[in-house]
Amino acid sequence: MWPSDPVTLSARVSWEICTGGSRDTQKNDGLGTKLRAAAKIAEKAADIYRAAALSRTLHTLKSQDFQVAGIPGTTVSDIVYDSGMVSGAGREIYDEVMDGRDEDLCPMCRHTEVSELDHVLPKKAFPALCVAPDNLVGTCDYCNSKKSDITTEVARKVLLHPNFENVSMERWLKAEVTPGSPGVLRYFVAAPPHWDAMLADRVRHQFGFLDLATRYSSKANHTLGGMRQHFAKQLEKNRASGLRIYLEDLASSHRADDLNGWAGVAYSAWAADDAFCQGSFKAEPAPRAEVSEHGMENFKITWMQDGLRRESVVRYSAKAAGDYASYKRAEEGVSDVRIIRSR
Ligand SMILES: [Zn+2]
Repeated sequence: MWPSDPVTLSARVSWEICTGGSRDTQKNDGLGTKLRAAAKIAEKAADIYRAAALSRTLHTLKSQDFQVAGIPGTTVSDIVYDSGMVSGAGREIYDEVMDGRDEDLCPMCRHTEVSELDHVLPKKAFPALCVAPDNLVGTCDYCNSKKSDITTEVARKVLLHPNFENVSMERWLKAEVTPGSPGVLRYFVAAPPHWDAMLADRVRHQFGFLDLATRYSSKANHTLGGMRQHFAKQLEKNRASGLRIYLEDLASSHRADDLNGWAGVAYSAWAADDAFCQGSFKAEPAPRAEVSEHGMENFKITWMQDGLRRESVVRYSAKAAGDYASYKRAEEGVSDVRIIRSR
């Protein structure tokens, strides 16, 4: 949902570089020659892919139209991507995808640092795109593993393509304080009214699919844990109105950097909450205690969403784990939330 700059290299040249070292052997039936000769197939595949990405119809592309000379997708991917790009002559392209970014947070979630290269359409099912720059995005390990090799034919379930789609210029992320809690936040998508229904659906789906409500709330809780004493001093010195102005200042500074960043949204939500500004944040220790580990346990929170059981592992007090489960239950499309204590 945040942009990523694709490497400006044609798919054909990328393919040629990554297959340049492929050799024929007695056993492989001229595989090297076949792969080197497929540069045009890769170029055409990338053109179709680009047009689909621009017209938001990636979900209509069929795996069978992106095969290479009858060679199994796994074989193509192993040779062209693994040997040719990751550990071959194409390594510079790989490094550019990983480094050629404005900053180092994942464009899918803006929660975790980029650490892995993701194929937007999976490399084994769409081997002709396995080294196409438009199909490569640097993401965090969480988003990459969550995405796995999943593809969809359902338009509303297509994740936003960081190389082609960008909703970071408009405010769509919001949060509110969970009533009765010491500042625990519930994040949600508030789609701008002029968005078409499909875009709003896709952003909501991505938000749920990548567990952003839980991941952002966890970050906000940790931040609050470290700021609690400081907020208390602000409140003591400048009263509720002074604390609110202070929180609004922090929100505006963070939002100048990222309009939909979890931190700016957190400070906005705290500033907007009367009880918080009057000191409700002092009521309980932070979900993660500042000094002591006393009362902290490992919990696994699991829930059903989109027909799959999902989970999040946290280390919190029993109460904080209960709070998580509560706002998970309040999320749209979520059912059967369970808290499991683990050691
Ligand atoms: Zn991510």
